[in-house]
Amino acid sequence: MLTSVPVGTNSLKNYEDIVDEEIIEKIRRLGGEMKGLRVLNLSSTAFGGGVAELLYTLVPLMRDVGLIADWQIIQGSEDFFTVTKLFHNALQGTELIATPEMIDTYLTNNRNNANMFSGEYDIVMVHDPQPAAILSFLEDKGKKTGKWIWRCHIDLTAARPGVWEFLRPYIERYDAAVFTMPQYVKEDLCVGKIAIVAPTIDPLSPKNIPIEYDTILNVLNRYNIDIKRPIITQVSRFDPWKDPLGVIDAYRIAKEEVPGAQLLMVASMATDDPEGFHYYEKTSRYANGDPDIHLLSNLEGVGNLEVNAFQRASNVVIQKSLREGFGLVVSEALWKERPVIGGDVGGIPLQVINGKTGFLVSDTEQCGKKAALLLKNPEMAREMGIYGKEHVRKNFLSPRQLADYMQLFIDLYQT
Ligand code: UDP
Repeated sequence: MLTSVPVGTNSLKNYEDIVDEEIIEKIRRLGGEMKGLRVLNLSSTAFGGGVAELLYTLVPLMRDVGLIADWQIIQGSEDFFTVTKLFHNALQGTELIATPEMIDTYLTNNRNNANMFSGEYDIVMVHDPQPAAILSFLEDKGKKTGKWIWRCHIDLTAARPGVWEFLRPYIERYDAAVFTMPQYVKEDLCVGKIAIVAPTIDPLSPKNIPIEYDTILNVLNRYNIDIKRPIITQVSRFDPWKDPLGVIDAYRIAKEEVPGAQLLMVASMATDDPEGFHYYEKTSRYANGDPDIHLLSNLEGVGNLEVNAFQRASNVVIQKSLREGFGLVVSEALWKERPVIGGDVGGIPLQVINGKTGFLVSDTEQCGKKAALLLKNPEMAREMGIYGKEHVRKNFLSPRQLADYMQLFIDLYQT
């Protein structure tokens, strides 16, 4: 059996005062039509990264509105996660010659997970490429039940043809595929239904809920960060696509104009991301002992509350990604009324409206200059933060995503 992830409880009612009424009404109506629908989410990790973050909120909400929802994670050997990270990078544009050994590792692990799959579902939503081939093994054995959806969280615009061509036939077995943006849909993909759904954040999760100033102060003290001096923050896995070295360069540029600036680089080490440790060390070497650069991770006890406090304590939040499927951290910061300077890539421009909720930048120089500009103009930063919070409230809070998924489930189920 695959491992079920324990999730807490939640109620749609808690969101009534936060999001627009139409969204709540739509969810209730769809929930009534779909009562008892069995929905399984399948992903590769319950810890670290955006997918886990989303499912901890959506699964309890699905249950609350009448679905029988579950979330299970696949098992994989260490070399499997190394291979899937290489695939992930190739899907985002890194050159990769997939060797027969890599393909074998990927397929063997998917076959093993297919053998562990049990239960009957009306809808199975498979997240990202790691478990994508499970369906083909089940189908070949006549064990597919219900409708299967592949949920792609990755920006595929620059996907390397080799890996995409390998994965495509497995994806084409699905009844539907969901992408964050229309640009991510490959032209040659032939799948029954395509839906575009942008991810969302949970305003009531420990990471986003309002916290007292004293709590923020305590957290900062614990990590020797000076609340009286300006704080620039990037919260991201240590990953080349998040450009941690570029973040340090941008901070150094900003520091020329704002000498007191401090940089927080907050990362969680995901269990499906072996590259993280290597990149952490690389970033640490690049920081070169600067006492104002704080590299913090779950290994030092940074959890949701700490991330919440760091984001709220920041004067400016950076998300200097070179590629980014969506970038939940951008909405998380905007929701806390922080202006965000984001790389002009992937899903970031959906959230950062240039000059309104922050700035979109294409290089390190611009990033550093804009950070200095915001540090020197707190009123501008404040206005952008307020605008940013409303932008997120309208577009990127969990109930909206739940409504989109439920609509897709019912469309599929009725066909
Ligand atoms: N995150 C966290 N602790 C960290 C770093 C990241 O909890 O130290 C969370 C972050 O707050 C966000 C998610 O991990 O909710 C990252 O999602 P995002 O879409 O930004 O990037 P991904 O990791 O999926 O590429």
